[in-house]
Amino acid sequence: MALSQIGLVGLAVMGQNLSLNIAEKGFPISVFNRSYEKTEAAVARAQKEGLSDKLRGYKDVKDFVESLEKPRRVILLVQAGAPVDATVDNLCKYMEPGDIIIDGGNEWYENTERRKAKVEALGLRYMGMGVSGGEEGARRGPSMMPGGTAEAYKYIEPIVTKVAAQVDDGPCVMYIGDGGAGNYVKMVHNGIEYGDMQLISEAYDVLHVLGGLSNDEIAAVFAEWNQGELQSFLIEISAIIAAKKDEDGSSLVDKIVDKTGAKGTGKWTVQQAAELSVAAPTITASLDGRYMSALKDQRVSASKVFGDLGLKAPAAAAGVDKKQLIADVRAALYCSKICSYAQGMNIIKAKSEEKEWGVDLGGLARIWKAKSEKKEWGVDLGGLARIWKGGCIIRAGFLDRIKQAYQRDSNLPSLLVDPPFAKDLAERDAAWRRVVALAVTNGVPAPGMMASLSYFDTYRRERLPANLVQAQRDFLASHTYQCSSAQRDFFGSHTYQRTDKEGWFHTVWDENF
Ligand code: NAP
Repeated sequence: MALSQIGLVGLAVMGQNLSLNIAEKGFPISVFNRSYEKTEAAVARAQKEGLSDKLRGYKDVKDFVESLEKPRRVILLVQAGAPVDATVDNLCKYMEPGDIIIDGGNEWYENTERRKAKVEALGLRYMGMGVSGGEEGARRGPSMMPGGTAEAYKYIEPIVTKVAAQVDDGPCVMYIGDGGAGNYVKMVHNGIEYGDMQLISEAYDVLHVLGGLSNDEIAAVFAEWNQGELQSFLIEISAIIAAKKDEDGSSLVDKIVDKTGAKGTGKWTVQQAAELSVAAPTITASLDGRYMSALKDQRVSASKVFGDLGLKAPAAAAGVDKKQLIADVRAALYCSKICSYAQGMNIIKAKSEEKEWGVDLGGLARIWKAKSEKKEWGVDLGGLARIWKGGCIIRAGFLDRIKQAYQRDSNLPSLLVDPPFAKDLAERDAAWRRVVALAVTNGVPAPGMMASLSYFDTYRRERLPANLVQAQRDFLASHTYQCSSAQRDFFGSHTYQRTDKEGWFHTVWDENF
């Protein structure tokens, strides 16, 4: 029997769909799963989809490995963490020098680097490849972010470029960088996604609660926004969600418990931002928003405590001009989104510089466009489909603009100062503030939009009150602590610079204190 060009281990949602996609693109594939039932299910599905000549299932890992062309290429899509270690160990018993393992899971990048070093000692090669787009993306064409051994990439390139989503300027895949770079950028991508989701939910909240818009009206607003600068898969699905009716004809979204979980990549992104001293307040606010949402019982009690004290739940704001509010929220969402992407890109930039990965930020924006093309992956657009037709070029507009920003200047310090984005922010500044002010005045939390606005205001401010903080640090170093001379050296960094003279200064702020 002819050997398969590639193998895949892990046939849960992602693995099953990606293996069918690979088979459909004409690459014979062998598949394996720890529990055989999933292998049988994948084989049965391949048969149903007319792909049985391209996909073969194996019960035994040795037979699976021996069914592959050399150098063998095996994609893993098993649960991140210990299951990946177990799977790698199992494969290594039969794989040979030169063979390549590619972990396609949402793995912590340092685990990838650890495993890479381990299998390289055996002469094998290892890659970590972020895969985005969920189940539907895996089946129809995901965005793929492979990192790791550069010379191994050429062995998977012909396959992944065909399997990835195809957009106007090429396949949504590119080599990201060495080590765990592929997993790392996927992690930040997920952090940015947290930001997008939070910001859209805040837009929905302001329109619904303060603007008094019905869910049907919000669905129509989102559908319209999806034709312009806010076009994105998440806006698209939010329109579908807002329009969805329950069996009794009422809005389904209103019946969903307001608690959300977090799987880990958002938290890792925030932790990484802190590790790298990169401010990421929008992404952090999104993560905090999820944590706060989980405190449902406490929130119910607190609303009673403060309700009894006269602070009522927010309600439709008096005298709101709906049309103006919709336009303002659109602007606030767009500006906040620019801030969120700027933060994510800066995290990747800082890490890439630290690790010398050389990540191409413009290229990254290009391969992330797969998400925005999801409409073509068969999402049921219901009655809204008709008005969304023909929007494809604009659909990828935002990521295209990010790509162009980094093409104009690969060392751009922040997306905020890319001239076209800067102009957009300046033009929408007043509207953004009106939305945040309205939310604050009426007690509607909009932490993502507020954090973004503060981020913008901080970034564009020539002089911050950090002078006072630095003076406080100098004060604390010399007064609060009883310093020995050695300690004074230690606290030496708590001196300050002056605006009018060169050098570092220390002041005895109050001799009696
Ligand atoms: P998953 O639920 O994360 O993992 C299930 C798979 O892991 C099954 O094949 C399971 O085998 C295997 N597994 C678990 N423990 C194992 C062990 N100790 N040894 C060997 N295999 C073990 O599957 P998934 O949702 O398809 O995701 C796969 C990867 O892609 C994950 O890293 C996930 O974070 C990432 N990802 C998922 C999505 C998504 O939308 N689901 C999107 C992007 C990325 P058994 O069948 O034998 O239990």
